[in-house]
Amino acid sequence: MSSIPERRQAIEPREISQESDTLLRITWADGVGCDYKAAALRRACPCAQCVNEWTGERTLKPEAIADEVEINDLAIVGRYALNFRWSDGHETGIYSFQYLRDLCEHQEVAGQLP
Ligand SMILES: [Zn+2]
Repeated sequence: MSSIPERRQAIEPREISQESDTLLRITWADGVGCDYKAAALRRACPCAQCVNEWTGERTLKPEAIADEVEINDLAIVGRYALNFRWSDGHETGIYSFQYLRDLCEHQEVAGQLP
């Protein structure tokens, strides 16, 4: 066996924990922690129903999502993304780790933990 170094992903979560029905916490491999509120995360859904594939324009209206929306279930997709099942029945969004990290750093959705 030759020793080809394993390719490291730039953005990788160390821990993903659902703190409550409405709060997701991700601790990244570099030690940065991010809290995500369910409603904000739902409003940032990147799927083709929520974002125009051609223009990149968000077609989902923030006010269409209740503040009380909950995470019913979440699953890791192909080791690079998360898929959520929301209490409003939506489940087509694939949130790549890169996208989740960007959301956190841009403070649109999540707050970085101290
Ligand atoms: Zn969506």
